[in-house]
Amino acid sequence: MIKKVLRNDVITTICQYRMKLISQRDLIDTLDCETKDTASALFDTIKQELEGCTNGFLSEFYQTLTGEVVEVVGDTQKLFTCPCCGFNTLFEIYNIQQGTGYDICRYCQWEDDGTSDLDKISSVNGGSINSYRAKIIENKNFFYRNKWVI
Ligand SMILES: [Zn+2]
Repeated sequence: MIKKVLRNDVITTICQYRMKLISQRDLIDTLDCETKDTASALFDTIKQELEGCTNGFLSEFYQTLTGEVVEVVGDTQKLFTCPCCGFNTLFEIYNIQQGTGYDICRYCQWEDDGTSDLDKISSVNGGSINSYRAKIIENKNFFYRNKWVI
């Protein structure tokens, strides 16, 4: 039977491994991260990067780092849907009344600037939604497709 591990514990383990890798490569010194506060800020950044990822992705990541096969359990954070790729990757959605938006999709890199016309050139993105979608199709290994919730 596959061991079940809580999502939050898996994320913490992944962060610890990555922190270890960064310090082994002396990047901590380069980044001037010797103080405890900076190290904890770095930990939080790595952690935020994993928010909204699927449990399947976390399980693969965990296995790669530890060699251990586990089933990741727990609810995935609910994020907003990217208008370009359709994955749930955004921490906030464009809303002019609420003054939110301009979050950059962690899958396709589209910046949510309120564009809905697929062929309209967005100045902040330097292209249209359709041109970004073409880039995703061109590059089949564009990050991990199983990383995000549809
Ligand atoms: Zn996207």
